[in-house]
Amino acid sequence: MPKQISPFHSKTGEVYHIYGVCSAGIAIKKGRKVKGKGNKKLCKACIGIRAGKRPR
Ligand SMILES: [Zn+2]
Repeated sequence: MPKQISPFHSKTGEVYHIYGVCSAGIAIKKGRKVKGKGNKKLCKACIGIRAGKRPR
């Protein structure tokens, strides 16, 4: 199971991420990546990773 990292989000996104392997998290451009949850919802892909499902 992937290791959880400290939460991060995109300035323009509606969700935050907790896994470095999350493809949506990886897709965030460097200048838009912000640490913390940003008062957003947890990303669905990250929920899936946490549940033990690997993204395809
Ligand atoms: Zn994510």
